[in-house]
Parts: sequence; C-alpha cells; structure tokens
Amino acid sequence: MTDPVQRLDFGRVSVFLGHKSGKYPDGNQVVVRGSDTRVAFDTPLVANRIGAELDAAELILLGHVHEDHMAGLHRLPRAAVQAHELDVDAVRSWDALRRHYGVRAAVADALLDKLRREFFYVPRPDASGYADGALWELGRTRVRALHMPGHTAGHCVLLVEPEGVAFLGDIDLTGFGPYYGDASSSLAAFRATLARVAELPAAIWVTSHHRGVYTDRGRFQEALAAFAAHLEQRNERLVRMLADGAKSLDELAAMRLVYPPQYEELWVDDAERRTIAQHLDELVAAGRVALDDAGRFVHT
Ligand SMILES: [Zn+2]
Repeated sequence: MTDPVQRLDFGRVSVFLGHKSGKYPDGNQVVVRGSDTRVAFDTPLVANRIGAELDAAELILLGHVHEDHMAGLHRLPRAAVQAHELDVDAVRSWDALRRHYGVRAAVADALLDKLRREFFYVPRPDASGYADGALWELGRTRVRALHMPGHTAGHCVLLVEPEGVAFLGDIDLTGFGPYYGDASSSLAAFRATLARVAELPAAIWVTSHHRGVYTDRGRFQEALAAFAAHLEQRNERLVRMLADGAKSLDELAAMRLVYPPQYEELWVDDAERRTIAQHLDELVAAGRVALDDAGRFVHT
C-alpha cells in the first residue's frame, strides 16, 4: 500500500482517505489547520502514510476510543491527546480498554497482541477528558464536540466551524450497519443519536469508514436512513431466528445476528451476545418475545 493518500480539502479542513475510503481496519484522517493550532481527529492506520501534514499536529481529538482510531498515536508522543470523559480511561491503559471492549479474559492477551501488531497500539496515560459541548478555538476555525453515544459511551461528533464539516466517526453509514456490541456500547443510545445526527448544522459529513465524505444533504440523509434501518431489520431477523422454537442467548449468538457465519475475530462471540441481548430486551418490552420456563427466548 504505497500509493499516495487521496486528500480532500474544505477550507482549513483536510480529509486523508484511508484504503478503500477508510474501510475497516483502515479509516479516514481529518486534519484541521487553525492559524494557531493544528488538530487531528483520531489517528487511523492511514495516519502512518501521511507524513508531515499529520506529524505536525499538536492536539489529537479522539471522537471515540477504539483500536482503529488510535493507530497513529505512537507517531505523536508529544501531541496532547483528548477523548470524551466517558471514553478517556480506555486511552490511558490497556486494562481500561479491555473493559471498554468487554473481551473475555481468555482472549484478552491474544487481542492485545493483535492490536500491537496490526494497529501499533500504545496506551496514552497522559490523555485528558473533554465534555459534551467542549470548544477548541484553533485560530480562524474552531471545533465543537457533540456527545453522540451508542457506538461507545463517549462517542462524539466533532463539528468544525465555519467550514461546516461534521466528523461522524463510527456513525459510519456503512452497509454493516450500526455497531453497539462492546461493553461500553448501547443500542438505545445509538437510536437517540441517529435521530439527532440528522439535524446537525453541517454541509459536509465525514465518516470514519468506507463511505468517506458526503457533500450533498440529500445523499447523506438517504445513507443515514438506510443505516438506521438496520436496527429494525435486526429485530425482524431475530424474530425469524426464533420461528422454529425457543432458543437460549448462547444458541442465538452461535447462529449470528450481525456478522457472517464464517467471519472469525477474537471479539465476535462477545459482540454477538451483547448485540442480541439488547435486541431481545427491545422485543421483550414490545411483547414480541418472551422467556419460557427454561429461560429460553420464544416468539410470542
Ligand atoms: Zn469504533
């Protein structure tokens, strides 16, 4: 992957597109050149192929904390690192990141190994927290953090003004649909976030993965609606999974709701379990699914 990094400019904001427009495990890098301060939003794998434009950043604002958004932190030991106060502990230590994911002890060492090898993972004990509404005046441009949780507890949209660029992070509008499978994730919070993100005062929407950049409000809203529709589709799929009889959470997780059956990753079993459990909560509350005497789920 030595081809030059594709770059899009919107005033003082530059977007460096990762491989396949930032398809996971890569991501898209945003750099904001204030007249006083240069800021980077996240540091995905592509951060390692940009050079001076990124390496001169004095401040890294993490929109949320996950391995694929921290893959360039090792290059910037002198830059200040900030994340929302509900995510910041996960930047500071591996132990907190492990709890943030909610990985089982049995796979924790293997995951740490993988993050070091594939994402240049280093913790940043020096990271500090920011709150909803935090404002950074960078000189002729400024950044506002809007807390939009669900993907993680501290997930934020970073809005650049006056350019009107909204960095959506992992409200990524991909065909996979919303991800809320970690210990710090929440389906209910993601639902509220999806309603709010439609109303952002933005003209350019930058996603972390695969979809890259939207500059047309109609196309953005269409993509957002398709992304949000995954939530109902998952509820319907789960009901169909119960059509031939009662199943336990473990049995449903083994059948897979969000990942393809052949897809193997260290976190898949835990993520499926948590994702399915949250949908079951919704379906039970709606009276469409109930628990039988053996503690298995049945379609009512
Ligand atoms: Zn993420």
